[in-house]
Amino acid sequence: MSEKKDIRALTKEQLRDFFVEMGEPAFRGNQVYEWLWQKSAHSFDAMTNISKVTRSKLQEHFVINHIKVDLMQRSADGTIKNAVRLHDDLVVESVLIPVKDRTTACVSSQVGCSLDCQFCATARLKRMRNLNPDEIYDQVVAIHNESLLYFNRPLTNIVFMGMGEPLMNYKNVLQAIEKITSPEGLGMSPKRITVSTSGVPKMIRKLADDKVRFKLAVSLHSAIDEVRTSIMPFNATFTLSELRDSLIYWYKHTKSRITYEYVVWEGINDKEKDIKALIDFCKFAPAKVNLIEYNPIDDDRFRQASNKAIDEYVKALEGKGITVTVRRSRGKDIDAACGQLANKNN
Ligand code: SAH
Repeated sequence: MSEKKDIRALTKEQLRDFFVEMGEPAFRGNQVYEWLWQKSAHSFDAMTNISKVTRSKLQEHFVINHIKVDLMQRSADGTIKNAVRLHDDLVVESVLIPVKDRTTACVSSQVGCSLDCQFCATARLKRMRNLNPDEIYDQVVAIHNESLLYFNRPLTNIVFMGMGEPLMNYKNVLQAIEKITSPEGLGMSPKRITVSTSGVPKMIRKLADDKVRFKLAVSLHSAIDEVRTSIMPFNATFTLSELRDSLIYWYKHTKSRITYEYVVWEGINDKEKDIKALIDFCKFAPAKVNLIEYNPIDDDRFRQASNKAIDEYVKALEGKGITVTVRRSRGKDIDAACGQLANKNN
């Protein structure tokens, strides 16, 4: 049985070829493709305009490795967290975040993560594997459906800020976004999608070369190498100057403003020199800063800085004409906030 291929690994062309080889018209491939992506069919039996004989042929050759939402938790603030079981029994998490008239899906790109950000719960899981394009796509569809069901509106935004480093699973993430934005998939605008990276310079350049139309966010947290390396050790390899050069390249080719995600921690990056370094870093390419609240994981080294320290950041950045937002966390009571995704209940 394990010999059967995952049908959603096939392109539309390959599906059409499959039918031609079986002596059937190529357009059957289009019909099946539509069932798989636009209609998110979980089984071949759901494909009602395909004959029973053809359906059983499909069944002989392929499987549909659809994700399963194992556990759905709802936070007091409306945030929903899905524990998503994959075909090989691994689990990832995705989050639905409702704000005013918007619904944002926060999706995972890997099972665990290979990076070692000291303040992030996902980093402790290590990287087990990359998600396939269909597994990323399914997370989005699941949240889209929950948004319709619980909030009476479609999904409006997607952020790749769940588990994993999206740029370390480049090909699959881009293929998933291709499906999400295609009229043959969900038809969402790429402008409503943000890919967040810890900062992999080579891949940021590749995004620019590939002329992607979604937005880029970078988890910066410090613009001083020494400090950044102490909290994000991979910064020793992907240094700030390399990151900066890749971001200049990104902006030059996409003209798309970058968002820096930034947590201020007591005694780590709450001094004037930290603010000054951030302001300097923001000069290289148009950027906005998103100050995010720290969500504690059990590590004594990290404590959210005081409101006063945050105010200092805001005042200084705004003084230099840099847009800054202060983002309060959501879904903390169900461990659904940034950096808290760690499969605790599975
Ligand atoms: N690997 C990508 C995608 C994960 S996004 C990236 O790093 O951008 C998750 C975001 O939450 C990142 O900005 C990350 O730095 C931030 N984060 C991680 N742990 C956190 C924590 N404990 N509290 C607040 N934010 C955290």
